[in-house]
Amino acid sequence: MKIICIGRNYKDHIREFNNEIPEEPVFFLKPDSSLLIKNRPFYYPYFSEDVQYEAELVIRISRVGKNIKKEFAGSYFNAIGIGIDFTARDLQRKCIQKGLPWEIAKGFDRSAVISEEFRSKEKFPNVNNIEFRLELNGKTVQKGNTSNMVFSFDTLISYISKYMTLKTGDLIYTGTPSGVGPVKIGDRLKAYIGGDKYMDFRVK
Ligand code: MG
Repeated sequence: MKIICIGRNYKDHIREFNNEIPEEPVFFLKPDSSLLIKNRPFYYPYFSEDVQYEAELVIRISRVGKNIKKEFAGSYFNAIGIGIDFTARDLQRKCIQKGLPWEIAKGFDRSAVISEEFRSKEKFPNVNNIEFRLELNGKTVQKGNTSNMVFSFDTLISYISKYMTLKTGDLIYTGTPSGVGPVKIGDRLKAYIGGDKYMDFRVK
């Protein structure tokens, strides 16, 4: 399976980094070895001094597809969960400065936290109006709603599948809203979709 992550998909987050709203989706991959499951602790990596959380809704692909038309994209994912795209921001800055790929900043072990629970898409009355939030040590630090995405789930699926065949079980991290920030050892993170807690883990 592959993990596809979308960058720059919430306008408020694009603004906080002074980036431009992209004309087409921006995506990158994480390896399957980056997954952190079952609320296991995130061990702070020794090679970074600025690991930051990015809470994101995650959709799960349910059928193999290539060149998927946007109007059919909805039938290619069946479940929605929540994840954290941990980013070694200091390493990412260096890569960007040098014009190098981002993998060491984005694809390291445990950098793709994923909720144990995924809820069937049918349980959401409108996938283009889903609220989610992240709590850091009991305080809400990120709040998002899919209505504020630059590119909808359907657009993302259609776009990615032009270049890469999507396969059953692939995960798409669909971008983070504003409020990203650093974590430190001892922090506790909880992520919610609507009023339901999907994730609760610690930084060690
Ligand atoms: Mg991200």
